[in-house]
Amino acid sequence: MANSKHIIIVGAGPGGLCAGMLLSHHGFKVSIFDKNEQVGGRNRAITMQGFTFDTGPTFLLMKGVLDEMFALCDRKSEDYLSFSPLNPMYQLLYDDRALSVFSETEAMQAELARVFPEIGDGYQRFMKQERTRFNYLYPCITRDYSSLAAFFSWDLLKAVPWLGFPKSVFENLGQYFSQEKMRLAFSFQSKYLGMSPWDCPALFTMLPYLEHDYGIYHVTGGLNQLATAMATVLEETGGQLHLSTPVASLVIENGAVKGVKLENGESIMADEVIINADFAHAMTHLVEPGILKKYCPEKLAQYDYSCSTFMLYLGLDKLYELPHHTIAFAGDYRTNIKNIFNDKSLPTDFSFYVQNASSTDASLAPPGKSALYVLVPMPNNDSGIDWHAHCQHIREQVLTTLETRLKLTDLRDHIECEKIITPQHWEQDEAVYKGATFSLAHTFSQMLYWRPHNQFEELAHCYLVGGGTHPGSGLPTIYESARISSQLIAKKHQVKFTHIAKSAWLKKS
Ligand SMILES: Cc1cc2nc3c(=O)[nH]c(=O)nc-3n(C[C@H](O)[C@H](O)[C@H](O)COP(=O)(O)OP(=O)(O)OC[C@H]3O[C@@H](n4cnc5c(N)ncnc54)[C@H](O)[C@@H]3O)c2cc1C
Repeated sequence: MANSKHIIIVGAGPGGLCAGMLLSHHGFKVSIFDKNEQVGGRNRAITMQGFTFDTGPTFLLMKGVLDEMFALCDRKSEDYLSFSPLNPMYQLLYDDRALSVFSETEAMQAELARVFPEIGDGYQRFMKQERTRFNYLYPCITRDYSSLAAFFSWDLLKAVPWLGFPKSVFENLGQYFSQEKMRLAFSFQSKYLGMSPWDCPALFTMLPYLEHDYGIYHVTGGLNQLATAMATVLEETGGQLHLSTPVASLVIENGAVKGVKLENGESIMADEVIINADFAHAMTHLVEPGILKKYCPEKLAQYDYSCSTFMLYLGLDKLYELPHHTIAFAGDYRTNIKNIFNDKSLPTDFSFYVQNASSTDASLAPPGKSALYVLVPMPNNDSGIDWHAHCQHIREQVLTTLETRLKLTDLRDHIECEKIITPQHWEQDEAVYKGATFSLAHTFSQMLYWRPHNQFEELAHCYLVGGGTHPGSGLPTIYESARISSQLIAKKHQVKFTHIAKSAWLKKS
C-alpha cells in the first residue's frame, strides 16, 4: 500500500506519534521531527539515578481508544505494552476524611456509604444518567469539525440535550450529590483539563463517569511506554524519527504549507504537514507574523487557557507505602481554585496529587526505594509570577505539605535526587504557550467547531493533532485527533483507511 506522499510531523508527542504510526501503516512516507532527544513530549520519561518518572500523564483512561489505534495498524497494544487496571483507582484526601475510589460498583457504593452516610441513591443515578450522556456525546466528540457542514450532524443534534449547557460540572453533580465534599470526588477531574469544576462545562462529567465505569490503568515502566510503543510501530512500518532536530519555521507559500525549515538551516518539503507542537506555541513561533488572522499572536493571547502545574519528582532512598495515586484537596478548596483561575496568585494552602507508582511497579525505582511524582496545580503564566524567584520557597511548602498531609515526616531526610518543573519551565523548555500545561481551555466557546480544526483552517496542507486541537487535551482525545487528521489525509490522497468497528468497547446505556 506504499504511496509516494510525504507527511512531515512537527513533534513526537502522543498526537504526533499516533498520527505517524497510523499514516506510516497506511503507506505514507512519514518523517517526524522533535526538538527533544527522546520521544513522547509531555508524555516522556524522566530518568535519574535509577528512578523513572512520567513527565506528565499518569492516568490512562479509555484504554479502548488506545487499543483501536493499534488495531488500525493491524496490531495489538498488549503485544507492546503491559497494562494493570488499578483497583482502588486512587485515594482522595479531604481535610477530615479519606475516600478510596473503586471502579467496581459494589465496592464503590460501600465505600461511599461508609464515608458519606447521607449519599442515598446518588451514585446509582450518577452512573446510569452519565453513561447515557457519554454514549450520546462520544460519537459527536470524536467527529471531524473541520467544516461547518460537518458540524450539523444527526449525532450532534441528538446529543444537544446532553451537553448540559450552560451548566458546569459542579452544578451538574448537584442532581446526584448534595454535599460539596461528595461533589468534589466527582468533579476534581476537571483539573485533568486544567479547569475549575465551577467553569468546566457539564458535559465533562464524562471524565469521572469514565473512571468509574471503565477504570484506569497503569502501564509497566510508566505511561511514557505508550509513546515508546507508538514510536516502535512507526519505525516498524517504515516511518522516520528525527530526534534532537528542532523545526525553526513552517515553509509557507501563498497560504499553503510546503514543508519545514529546520533550525540547522535545512528545508524539507512535504505534501502535508501535521503540527503536534503545542498549538499556540507553534502558531506564535513557527509561523511568520502577518500570515495568520484568526490565530495571530494578538488574538491567541485573548483565548482562555488551562492552568499550569508545579512538578516535583523525588527519588527517595526509602520505600513509602502510599497508594499508587493520591489526590489531596486543599482545606479551603474554593479559595485554592480562585487563586489558580481567578486571581492568578500563589496559593498558600494547595491541593496536590502524588503518584507512588513504584509501589505497584518495581521497575520504576531501585529495590527499597520510591519514586514520588508530585503535581501542584498553579496559575498559568498570565499570572506574571516570577517562578524562578519563588521556586525554592514553593518546594519547601510542597515538602512541608507532604510531611503533614501524607504523614511523610522523614521525607526531607530521604531525598536522593529530584527535579522540579515550574510553569516557567513548561513555557521555556517544553514549548507550552503561557505554560498552560493542558493547552487551550475546554470552554463551550473553544470546543468542537470552535476549537482549532484538525484540518487547519488558516493554512492549506496543514493538519493539527494534540491537546490544543479538537477533540482536546488528554491521551484518548489526543489519539482521536490523530485518527481524525490521518483519516482526512488518507481521504484526500485516496488511500483506503482501515475499517474497524469503532467504539466496540462502549457499554450500552
Ligand atoms: C503534568 C501533566 C499531567 C498530565 N496527566 C495526564 C493524565 O494523567 N492522563 C492523560 O490522558 N493526559 C494527561 N495530560 C495531558 C496530555 O495527555 C499530555 O500533555 C500529552 O503529552 C499532550 O500530548 P500532545 O500530543 O498534545 O503533545 P506534547 O506532549 O506537548 O508533545 C509535543 C511535542 O512537540 C515537540 N515540539 C515543540 N516544538 C517543536 C519544534 N519547534 N520542533 C520540533 N519539535 C517540537 C515537543 O518537543 C514535544 O515533544 C497531562 C499533562 C501534563 C502536562
